[in-house]
Amino acid sequence: MQLPENGRVLYQKYKKFQKISIVLLLAAAISFVFLHNWLLMVAFVVLDFFLETKTYVCPHCGKKLDCRRKLQEDTTCPGCQKYLFKGL
Ligand SMILES: [Zn+2]
Repeated sequence: MQLPENGRVLYQKYKKFQKISIVLLLAAAISFVFLHNWLLMVAFVVLDFFLETKTYVCPHCGKKLDCRRKLQEDTTCPGCQKYLFKGL
């Protein structure tokens, strides 16, 4: 299946964010477990949440999406039911 150019760019951006999010949450866990620094942990979690609300939103209605959800090329928005990537 072919995605339009905009859809492909967004798809890649979401994919990249999913990886960044995992790294941030891992860093948060490490801060707490090994460094015993809960302030640092909170900082990482807040940063992840902030990035998520900034980047990981529906391009049509602006609703925040669940980044733990598996992404597919024909994924639809739970809010407006539109295709996230195909309809761009
Ligand atoms: Zn939407």
